[in-house]
Amino acid sequence: MIYLDQAATTPVRAEVLEEMKPYFSECFGNPSTIYKVGREAKKAMENARGQVADLIGASPDEIIFTGGGTESDNIAIKGIAFKNKGKHIITSQIEHPAVMETCKYLEKNGFEVTYLPVYKEGIVRVDDLKKAITDDSILISIMHVNNEIGTIQPIEEIAKIAKEKGITFHTDAVQSVGKIPVDVNTLNVDLLSLSSHKIYGPKGIGALYIRKRVKLEPILHGGGQERDLNPGTENVSGMVGLGKASELAKNELEYNMKHLFNLREKLIEGVLTIEESYLNGDINRMIPGLANFNFKGIEGESLLLLLDAGGIAGATGSACSSKKLMASYVLTSIGLAEVDSHGSFRITLGHDNTEEDIKKTVELLKASVEKLRAMSPIWNSKK
Ligand SMILES: *Cc1c(COP(=O)(O)O)cnc(C)c1O
Repeated sequence: MIYLDQAATTPVRAEVLEEMKPYFSECFGNPSTIYKVGREAKKAMENARGQVADLIGASPDEIIFTGGGTESDNIAIKGIAFKNKGKHIITSQIEHPAVMETCKYLEKNGFEVTYLPVYKEGIVRVDDLKKAITDDSILISIMHVNNEIGTIQPIEEIAKIAKEKGITFHTDAVQSVGKIPVDVNTLNVDLLSLSSHKIYGPKGIGALYIRKRVKLEPILHGGGQERDLNPGTENVSGMVGLGKASELAKNELEYNMKHLFNLREKLIEGVLTIEESYLNGDINRMIPGLANFNFKGIEGESLLLLLDAGGIAGATGSACSSKKLMASYVLTSIGLAEVDSHGSFRITLGHDNTEEDIKKTVELLKASVEKLRAMSPIWNSKK
């Protein structure tokens, strides 16, 4: 199989799995206990916290472990919403459901939410943000990199405005960590979410960066672990896995950026030779390993199945919405007609993909698009 859906999830790296193994068996202790196996687990957990902190330029006491990107987003957004008096939140129209649905939930519970537009480029405009801010604004939550189209948002500029206005700023960095440089002080964010399974770590574990002095109201209640924000006996093996994955991501960032950029250049060059095919988003402001294409007159779902039959895994829309036959709200937000949004196909590359993979993918894509168009009423009525 050629796996080209790395934005949906990634395989656990062998080095990561190796590090995790002892924490299922001999080092099984509860980190809150003080005898030897407990102390060992605690030590491993704190070592992992340091590795995660290191990846994003934070200090270890600013990191809490969570159950993944979704949980980090929930703890951050609801945590700020319930801690403050103000009732206004600003986000974008293209957030991941983990942020989008959390904001919609808050809307149902007395909050007011502004969803900033992103235009054809798929990027929010700072002027729109400035206009949206009111005296009641308590939180800005804008993702660093979009999971469907890969565009990079102007986080530093947004942070500057947030600081000036004294508004807490959260970013969902699940798709940027490990793909482009992410440093919490350069970005100047107050809260940042990341997820392990998008960077070759295990699923069900993530982290939330919380800048010193930023206070969150807990949304879960229990034994007080993770600074009261994620109580429950810790997922030590998961933490160790995320820690190791973070270390690898940091060490290999430069190589990966180059590698993925080069592969994607070849991919785009090949794919855009297909008649009436387009690249979504803004090529100059995208992460290196992602390309979201639009093919007129076909269904992305059918394309996905043809590629799957040929041993290639890609995505339509995003993994989270592709089960529903609904137009992707990200693609309609960048101005695609609903019918065209169904003809989109996302390819996300990873460190183990090769030029050979790209060659085969381009060939199969060409053949499959041709085949589908031959039987497409939309395509044929246009001709
Ligand atoms: C995958 C993803 C999430 C959710 O992370 P989980 O660890 O799967 O809960 C959140 N935001 C973005 C941008 C993502 O791509």
